[in-house]
Amino acid sequence: MASKTTDQTLFPHIPTVQVPPHPVWPPLSDTERENLKDRIKQMLKEQNGVLVAHYYTDALLQDLADETGGCVADSLEMARFGSEHDADTLVVAGVRFMGETAKILNNEKRVVMPDPAATCSLDEGCPPDIFSSFCDQYPDHTVVVYANTSAEVKARSDWVVTSGIALPIINHLAEKGEKIIWAPDKHLGRYVQKLTGAEMIFWPGSCVVHEEFRSVALERLRRLHPQAAVLVHPESREEVIDQADVVGSTTALIEAVATMPNKEFIVATDAGIFNRMRQLAPGKKLLEAPTVGEGATCHSCANCPWMEMNSLQNLAEVLEKGTNEIKVSPELAAKAQIPIKRMLDFAKAMNDK
Ligand code: SF4
Repeated sequence: MASKTTDQTLFPHIPTVQVPPHPVWPPLSDTERENLKDRIKQMLKEQNGVLVAHYYTDALLQDLADETGGCVADSLEMARFGSEHDADTLVVAGVRFMGETAKILNNEKRVVMPDPAATCSLDEGCPPDIFSSFCDQYPDHTVVVYANTSAEVKARSDWVVTSGIALPIINHLAEKGEKIIWAPDKHLGRYVQKLTGAEMIFWPGSCVVHEEFRSVALERLRRLHPQAAVLVHPESREEVIDQADVVGSTTALIEAVATMPNKEFIVATDAGIFNRMRQLAPGKKLLEAPTVGEGATCHSCANCPWMEMNSLQNLAEVLEKGTNEIKVSPELAAKAQIPIKRMLDFAKAMNDK
């Protein structure tokens, strides 16, 4: 089926995404760390709050979410958990679009984040006004956006998808003969297009973490570890995806480590995911896919600098001071909710089958 690729040169006004330096958190002694955790646990109880953390955040935050009855998950599961939980306050450790999604789905709840400046190169690289004008040029296309976008971009879309559900949704749309605008991750878009044959136009966004994995260095590492299974997140470049034994969302990659018989894995996604993988498969050897080699920038070195803006310290502070509340106007939330709920309903129908 015909496809059309949109080149960056067609979007002269997209600002270059500024990648922040990795934050440096003052080290905590064992006693300080335990005291901080106790205080956070106490405040979560007092505020009827629940901690929802992404797999890419610091291991201490993930463990705390587990210990306090919260959730550690990918963005799809975070959204679902937050909307089904009866807490008054959702504390979202992740990046801004995750807090916004929680607020959109739970406008009556208080949603706070350790640092609302923690954003994402995909969200940053898809300014709502430019994106909306772009969509206006293709009125006969269905607009599908990745969850890693602002509330405004979601409100302009027909469907929101996460990496865990992008394939079946695009397949569903392709079977109906719909033409698709896909934003913002071009690598994930191309991967999905390859498998579904859908007619798609791509927004030229990318993730600074996944784009850094290097195919030649990966080939070398595979030669050194021929028994290792290669697990790749589909936000990676095509030549990296082509080397994968498993391509999938964070949840799918974690499941692969837990269930595949291999003793070694090469993992091409943010290194924060290793915490859960080690918990589920303690005896297995996990190797980071290389981010070095020709053209390497190491903006992230497999650690998202925005995810690293979440720490025990600023989590405690936000609960203490009652700051960093995420606000989305009810009007905007009502619009953005439609494509998100469409995705959640689709996921539910799939799981019920
Ligand atoms: S890892 Fe990539 S997609 Fe995820 S928040 Fe960071 S920049 Fe965004």
